[in-house]
Amino acid sequence: MSSISASSLAGALLRQEVLDLHAYHVPDSSGYIKLDAMENPYFLPPALRGEIADAVASAAINRYPDPGAASLKEKIRGLTGLPQGMDVLLGNGSDELIQLLAMAVNKPGAVLLSVEPSFVMYRMIAIFTGMRYVGVPLVSNSGTEDFSLDLPATLAAIKREQPALVFLAYPNNPTGNLYSADAVAEIIEAAPGLVVVDEAYYAFASDSFIPQLARYSNLLVMRTYSKLGMAGLRLGFLAGSKAWLEQLEKLRLPYNVGVLPQLVAEKMLDHHDVLLQQAEQIKQDRAVLYRQLGEIAAVCVYPSEANFLLLRVANATAVFEGLKRRGVLIKNLNGGHPMLKDCLRVTVGTNAENERFVAELKDCLLHG
Ligand code: PMP
Repeated sequence: MSSISASSLAGALLRQEVLDLHAYHVPDSSGYIKLDAMENPYFLPPALRGEIADAVASAAINRYPDPGAASLKEKIRGLTGLPQGMDVLLGNGSDELIQLLAMAVNKPGAVLLSVEPSFVMYRMIAIFTGMRYVGVPLVSNSGTEDFSLDLPATLAAIKREQPALVFLAYPNNPTGNLYSADAVAEIIEAAPGLVVVDEAYYAFASDSFIPQLARYSNLLVMRTYSKLGMAGLRLGFLAGSKAWLEQLEKLRLPYNVGVLPQLVAEKMLDHHDVLLQQAEQIKQDRAVLYRQLGEIAAVCVYPSEANFLLLRVANATAVFEGLKRRGVLIKNLNGGHPMLKDCLRVTVGTNAENERFVAELKDCLLHG
C-alpha cells in the first residue's frame, strides 16, 4: 500500500464525478475592499455586540448544542410569518440544505433541474451527489439578455426530464432579477417533484413565496441569514409543510447548527429591526449605485432586487484585475457561462465602499 502515491490512490478510489469537479473557489480577500460575496457590510451596534459577548462568555461550549434548536426555530417561525401548519428545518448555511434535498430525492436517474445562469452550487451538488443535472437557459435575445425565465423552454424541460427537484433562486444569483411570480407558479404547478424557491436575497426583494406554501404541496422555500448580516454564523432554513420536513429531518446531521451559531443568531434575531434597517439602507444604496453605474457609458448595469448588481463591460477580466490592483475585490463572472461573457458582480457595500468602487472603476476604464 505504501508504494502507491496518494494522488494515484485518490485517482483510483474516487468517483469520476468528484475527480472532474472544480472546487468552489473562494479568493483570498485580506486587505481588499470586499465586494465579492454579498455580505452585509455593517457591524452591529456596540450595545448588541456587548450583549452577544456576554452570552458567548457563559455559553456551554463543552456541551453539544440543542439538536432541535427549539428556541431558535421558534424565533425564526415567529419572524418569518409562516402560514398555518408550516415549519422550518435549519441548515449549516443553505448550501447544506441543497445537499440534504439532493440526497433525499436521489433515486437512480433522478434529475435536478435549474435555470442558467444561476447559483452554481445547484449544479455542483447535483453532480457530487450523483444526480443528473439539467440547466435551462434564461431568456437571451441575441446578446440583450434580460435573464427572465424562458417559461416554454422550462415547462418543456420539466415535461421531458420529470425532475425530482427544481431550484429557482428568487431573486436570482448572479443576475439579481426577480422572475415573474406567475411564471414561477406555473413551474410549481407543472413540476412532478419538489420545487424549492431559494430566497437567499429575500431581505432586498419585493416578493416572496412564503405565503404560497399552503397552496402547493410540492413547494418549499429556502432562506439564508448570510446576506442579512450572519454570513459567519452559517445559518439557513427550509420552510414548508411538516409532512415534508419530518422526512427531511432524518437526513439532517444531529448537531448541524452549533452552540455559538444558535446563541448568536437568537440574539441577533431579537434585534431583527436593526438587521432590517441595514437591509433597507443597502436597498437605498443599491439604487444610488445603479444610477451611478448607469451613467458610465462603458458599463451596462442590470436591474437588481438583491444586495448586488450585475454589470457588463468590454473586457471584464481586465477590469476585474484592474480593480484588484486598486484594492477592490469584486466577482469576475467572465468564463463561467456564455450569457455572462464580460460580466462582473459587485456587492452593495457601505456608502464609502461603493463610492470608492465607482471611482476606481472609472479609473480602470480610462487607464486600464
Ligand atoms: N442560494 C443562493 C441563491 C446564494 O446566492 C447563496 C450564496 N451565495 C446560497 C444559496 C448559499 O448561502 P449560504 O450557504 O451562505 O446560506
